[in-house]
Amino acid sequence: MCLKMTSSLIPTLQKITLKVNRVPFKDPEKRKAYQKKYQSKYYQRNREEVIARSVTNKKKLRKAKRAWLLEQLGGKCISCGYEGANLHCHHTDKSYKRPWGDVRGGTQGGSGIRFQRGITDYPWEDLKKKIHTLELLCGNCHMEHHAEERENE
Ligand SMILES: [Zn+2]
Repeated sequence: MCLKMTSSLIPTLQKITLKVNRVPFKDPEKRKAYQKKYQSKYYQRNREEVIARSVTNKKKLRKAKRAWLLEQLGGKCISCGYEGANLHCHHTDKSYKRPWGDVRGGTQGGSGIRFQRGITDYPWEDLKKKIHTLELLCGNCHMEHHAEERENE
């Protein structure tokens, strides 16, 4: 009796399960898995294009961060007034400085090369939180500032 009932229920359950499987988008977990699989296939088919696009996006992101920083920090060297391409973000708070980062964006394919982290490699949240610890110095004033610092050590 009990067995009979169970076996008659199984086909119904299977039908329901199959129906759910056909619309994976309603279940967030399944949707995630589906998208992951889809994206991985997409990546394999369009690898070069995907890489090229991500490089462009990173460049755009760096540009946007640089423009934002320049605007926030007054756009010129606070020491000599220079306005040009050779402006650096000087860290007044060294604890915030993270000079060594990971291999840049994985493009060096695990070569183990580490790079000096530029300010535009910092995440937006970090920049916004720590903008008050940064000031603009031109390349020359920046170098002089740190040279003096070394002399005084
Ligand atoms: Zn300067």
